[in-house]
Amino acid sequence: MTIFSKVAQVARQVLGRPGPRLLTVKEAFYLTPNMIRVVFAGPELEGFPAGREGGNCKLMIPELLETRQSFAERLQSGPPPVRRTYTVRKYDEDRQELSIDFVAHGDEGPASRWASNAKSGDFLGFAGPSEAKVTRFDADWYLVAADPSAIPVAAATLEAMPRDAKGVAIFEVTSAADRQDIDMPKGIEAHWLIQPDPHVPSAAQEGFIRSLRWPEGRVQVCVAGESGVIRALRGFLAKEKQVSREDTYIAGYWKIGLIEDEHQKAKRIGQA
Ligand SMILES: Cc1cc2nc3c(=O)[nH]c(=O)nc-3n(C[C@H](O)[C@H](O)[C@H](O)COP(=O)(O)OP(=O)(O)OC[C@H]3O[C@@H](n4cnc5c(N)ncnc54)[C@H](O)[C@@H]3O)c2cc1C
Repeated sequence: MTIFSKVAQVARQVLGRPGPRLLTVKEAFYLTPNMIRVVFAGPELEGFPAGREGGNCKLMIPELLETRQSFAERLQSGPPPVRRTYTVRKYDEDRQELSIDFVAHGDEGPASRWASNAKSGDFLGFAGPSEAKVTRFDADWYLVAADPSAIPVAAATLEAMPRDAKGVAIFEVTSAADRQDIDMPKGIEAHWLIQPDPHVPSAAQEGFIRSLRWPEGRVQVCVAGESGVIRALRGFLAKEKQVSREDTYIAGYWKIGLIEDEHQKAKRIGQA
């Protein structure tokens, strides 16, 4: 353990709140043609909370060729690295291994670029995680919808559901080969929609959801992905279907044409 990670660990213990960890890559591989799984391991994961799959975290991305030492100093004293929001996909407490799935959407995004070059021994900064996004499962049926960026939260939610849960899960992916095996209850009907260019606005999820025969009873919703899609679905679910706020997790995870900081700003002023 480096001096920096020791200081960060002590700060976490003393302050009782998560400070940044400097995580080390154990392995990185393509889970599907457009999704990279990065597995982190090592003593910096000491004390990582279990059961946070689906919760989000902030990743701090090193510059290309930056040394671990220089990055560690930057995490502590600035200038601050680029930060991006991701999801805890899996945490194996026994092996102390954390998996995060990155959409491989090209080299112009620092996080996507970092993941597509990641190899054993690489590092990044990590803050969080939050609580899981959906923790209560007492509805009559469930509606889950996700584009690739939200498959981690959707999959974690489906995996946490009671095994007798019923409902529909809609995934919009770039190619048929991007379908993933997800351990979901048998009563969840899964549909995989193909949208070859994620930068072209898509109405496929909205069209599919509007065409659903809406079952009787209370529905709980977990929907996330591109902001334009989310805006349309938010209106439909809240106004037309009157799904209550307590039963809804809905969030824009990125927006076509905006980097994350611009997207977050647009959200704050109600434009995304
Ligand atoms: C709560 C939360 C959880 C998230 N969890 C995950 C996760 O687990 N895995 C994951 O991959 N993403 C996740 N995201 C989305 C991720 O934060 C954004 O995609 C982010 O913009 C990626 O950063 P970047 O540096 O790669 O690209 P940026 O520098 O932010 O953007 C560069 C360009 O790429 C475009 N772009 C960004 N994301 C995508 C995309 N998914 N597909 C196509 N083009 C894109 C932008 O519009 C922009 O033009 C999450 C977002 C939130 C809010």
